[in-house]
Amino acid sequence: MSARPHFDGVVRVHPPVGAWRRRQKKSHLLQASYRTTDLFALIGEGPRGALDYLIKSRWGAAGDNSQVCPECGTIGTHYWLESRQYWKCRERSCHAQFSIVSGTYLHSTKMSPDRLLSVLFHFVEGKNSISARQISGLHDLSHQAAHVFLMKVRDAIRDSMLREPPLTGKIQADAAYFIKYKRPRNVGTGPAFAAKEDEKNAGLDENAKTTRFVHPNMHALVVFVQSGGAGTRRYKLARVKTEGQVNIAELGKKFCAGEIEFTTDEHSGYSLLVGPAVKHYVILHQKQFQDADKRNTNNAESFFSRMRHAYRGTWHRTSIQNLEWYGWEFAWRQTMVGRSNEKQLQDLLARVLAPFDERRFSDYWRKQPDRPRPDPDDVGLVVEIDKRTIPKKRGRPRKGEVRYKEPPRKKRQYNKKSAATKDPVPPTDPATD
Ligand SMILES: [Zn+2]
Repeated sequence: MSARPHFDGVVRVHPPVGAWRRRQKKSHLLQASYRTTDLFALIGEGPRGALDYLIKSRWGAAGDNSQVCPECGTIGTHYWLESRQYWKCRERSCHAQFSIVSGTYLHSTKMSPDRLLSVLFHFVEGKNSISARQISGLHDLSHQAAHVFLMKVRDAIRDSMLREPPLTGKIQADAAYFIKYKRPRNVGTGPAFAAKEDEKNAGLDENAKTTRFVHPNMHALVVFVQSGGAGTRRYKLARVKTEGQVNIAELGKKFCAGEIEFTTDEHSGYSLLVGPAVKHYVILHQKQFQDADKRNTNNAESFFSRMRHAYRGTWHRTSIQNLEWYGWEFAWRQTMVGRSNEKQLQDLLARVLAPFDERRFSDYWRKQPDRPRPDPDDVGLVVEIDKRTIPKKRGRPRKGEVRYKEPPRKKRQYNKKSAATKDPVPPTDPATD
């Protein structure tokens, strides 16, 4: 018999590995209770079924077979124009025609209801967000159309979350910088390198490594999180140039109310978060990640962790104009933690189908000439500049104006040299000798 050290004669039956594993708490996303709907259930019945779903989301409270006219507010059964998929207001003085998205954040979206529902469901299920490219491929939309649609969704999320009551109680605050990277200048090779003799080491530092530039568009997002268990956290955020004290103190007043306990890192930007009902705890991140009472800023940090995932994996870039809107998308995603996918879709529908008439992202490319034009200084919008207003660079430069001039090319030397090295004495004809 083979010797077994320390065998006490009792045979212990260990449960299989899977049984141990099963005791660990699964993420809510992996549980069956998360999956209360799916794409087939939502759009399987085609456009009509999807339209009924959207009608229920938008006008469910108005009663069966009732719609609310977005022009005059009349509640009732309006005339349905089947061929145009429009309603016509039954009020004689109004007679406005409206679709399922008229007067909402999705105003002027020209998508069939099933397609629209599918895009929104893909948005809900894209836990690291979803790119406009992917939406465009899945739904046969141009990339521009998909991008603007997603921006309309983010705009609805932002406005509705800003309207929600201010945060209170235990609040964590933190900031993270985005749009940092600036492409280093070209080093160049061959003739281009030779042409840059004045800037021999363009793009290189003294160690012959590419210098690190910070992009002038770099901005920070400041997030305030009302902490609590999963599903009870609430978020507010804003875009700032830097974590300045004045900015953050103003945001604290705007986003938070009542008895507040702030927890932040040691950055001086948070030092003005003061008030009669405000306590401020600072976690020295150089030493520890939480203090003796287990206060930390983990909820704020994990918000940025999720945003960085989406930034690197899905969006690849965010313009300075839209950065805050992308942030609000994740604020919404974080508040949805713990809810089933249908609850999340219904929450999203309630936000995007809310009344809205500012047209911030509808007619985004300003193709309708009679629409009032936006303020060109507003960096949140794309503004088409009239070509004729741009001065042409023509003629002699004005006094003091510096224009780029190509450096004169050096003459190629080797031809002369090679000519010189050739035998200077012409070969003599032996016949003449
Ligand atoms: Zn009406």
